[in-house]
Amino acid sequence: MNDFLQILKSIEFSFFDIIDFLILLFIVYQFLKLFRGTRAPYMFLSVLIIVFLAVISEILKLSSMNLLINAFKTVGLVALIILFQPEIRRLLASIGQSRILRALTKGPKVPIDEIIEACYRISERGYGALIVIQNRMSLQDYLEEGIEIDAKLSSYLIESIFYPENPLHDGAIVIKEDRILSASVKLPRSSKLPDPLLGTRHEAAVGITEISDAISIVVSEERQTVRLAFKGELSPPIEKEELKGTIEAILNGRI
Ligand code: ATP
Ligand code: MG
Repeated sequence: MNDFLQILKSIEFSFFDIIDFLILLFIVYQFLKLFRGTRAPYMFLSVLIIVFLAVISEILKLSSMNLLINAFKTVGLVALIILFQPEIRRLLASIGQSRILRALTKGPKVPIDEIIEACYRISERGYGALIVIQNRMSLQDYLEEGIEIDAKLSSYLIESIFYPENPLHDGAIVIKEDRILSASVKLPRSSKLPDPLLGTRHEAAVGITEISDAISIVVSEERQTVRLAFKGELSPPIEKEELKGTIEAILNGRI
């Protein structure tokens, strides 16, 4: 025990230690803010407890505890990555969404007018649609359950996909640049919509934007409205011009 007190006494804080600690605090704060309402703080807390135990057992030379912690270091790390995969994905997405990174890299060239024309025509007819525009992050992982199309985008093609008699009209289409990659794509759904009256189509529209930097446009069959989702936020019903301006701003990294 005396050794332990000796070690504590010998610790001195320099100016740089304080800066170091403040930077760490800032990172932890950002991390907690990002994952508010998810399981990620528990992940962080569990890692913190393990690190704390490792330090204590190292200082006090607790050999069996050391053995246990060493075993956990390898197996535990893999287990944590598997358990918290959605949170890790979200973290990576949020780094990709940072405005500085987006301003530095070129956004995809997407025929926005064609997409918008289709959305408002679909809405006028009273049909529903869900359109996801891939941004800088690949959406390949989500396409597996959908039906591959890989066709040049046109407003008429989008409109015919969402025609209710079309076998592909259910689910989302995913657009990459000027091509429609897939249709009938099942997207991960968000669990926190602002309006509880909105259904699964709107949940799916928001869900994909929580874990990627994609933009989604959702045309409501029930309400005949067009909304946009980005970064986990759903817009109120919007008009053509505003939709166009917002999509352009996002793709150019201005939002
Ligand atoms: P609407 O306003 O158009 O009625 P909504 O938000 O009320 O939409 P629902 O009425 O539940 O939602 O819409 C069901 C349709 O939403 C499905 O037929 C399907 O096309 C689409 N949808 C539901 N879940 C998903 C999902 N996980 N991924 C992609 N599309 C989905
Ligand atoms: Mg509905």
